[in-house]
Amino acid sequence: MPYKKEIKEFAKVRCEQTPNNTQIARDIKNKFNMDIDVDIIRKQVSRWRNKLKIAAKKIPIKRLFFDIETGYYILKIRAWQLRNFQRYFNYEDIEREKEIICICYKWEYEDAVHCIDWRIGEKNMLKKFIKIMGEADECIAHSGEAFDVPFIRTRCLYHGVLMFPTYRTLDTLKKSRSGFLFASNALNYLGKFTGIGGKVERHAMEQTKAVYEDKNEKELENMITYCKRDVVLLSDYYHILSPFITHNNNFAVLIGGDKWDCPECGSDNVEMHRTYTTAMGIIRRQMKCNDCKKQYKISNKNYMGMLQHLMRHNH
Ligand SMILES: [Zn+2]
Repeated sequence: MPYKKEIKEFAKVRCEQTPNNTQIARDIKNKFNMDIDVDIIRKQVSRWRNKLKIAAKKIPIKRLFFDIETGYYILKIRAWQLRNFQRYFNYEDIEREKEIICICYKWEYEDAVHCIDWRIGEKNMLKKFIKIMGEADECIAHSGEAFDVPFIRTRCLYHGVLMFPTYRTLDTLKKSRSGFLFASNALNYLGKFTGIGGKVERHAMEQTKAVYEDKNEKELENMITYCKRDVVLLSDYYHILSPFITHNNNFAVLIGGDKWDCPECGSDNVEMHRTYTTAMGIIRRQMKCNDCKKQYKISNKNYMGMLQHLMRHNH
């Protein structure tokens, strides 16, 4: 089906605003009520972007998306979480500790998904990844605050690899749980629900056994493929989620912008949406970013600062 001219024009504008083609495809599908798979529209957007050489406006912040795959505790049974079996087993029954098998990650604005795996040794893998986490302004993972980061920290402590006690993070699972009522908060479900696609199919326990106990290289490659797909899914899901959730980190200020600029993309192409007052009678301003569609709030003082700034620049 040929695309209407207005769709192409819309895509061109969105391509300059965001690097995420999946997000643009989804916007097109919704805006023009198209009955086509998001992935098919995404491919068309990607062709337009390449042909017209449209690069998204970049802001100098480093946002890291990542995911880890782990083995399991080997007891008299096999278990990913010990707490489910604590009635029957305890730490004295552990024959082999749970280790990290691979860590996959990508940077925002880059297509490449990288992987570090345990063939170089878990300790070396962690050393490498801690350096990467240290370069990031924000680390995003699904369940990252409850699982990935604390487990990485646990293995780092074990190996004596130093890492910071805190990182600037955003947990897409936490945000999904607190602000919505999804039937499930599994990334696989959320990907399918938002039309961006699901995970790679696998039998988790069989695959992990092959990798973790039998050192099966082919299954390790399959596991890495699975993990990399999760990172892409995570990044796509994050970009769809972003306008609907509160931010954890203000990037406008981090890159030297003003407090009223968009905290998500740093743009000053923003407008005031409405004014409200809190229970304590404090005035707040709800703002909208015209570039990335983020909605956020700022104090009245900062809003007044913005008006003065605009007045100075209009005269
Ligand atoms: Zn923005």
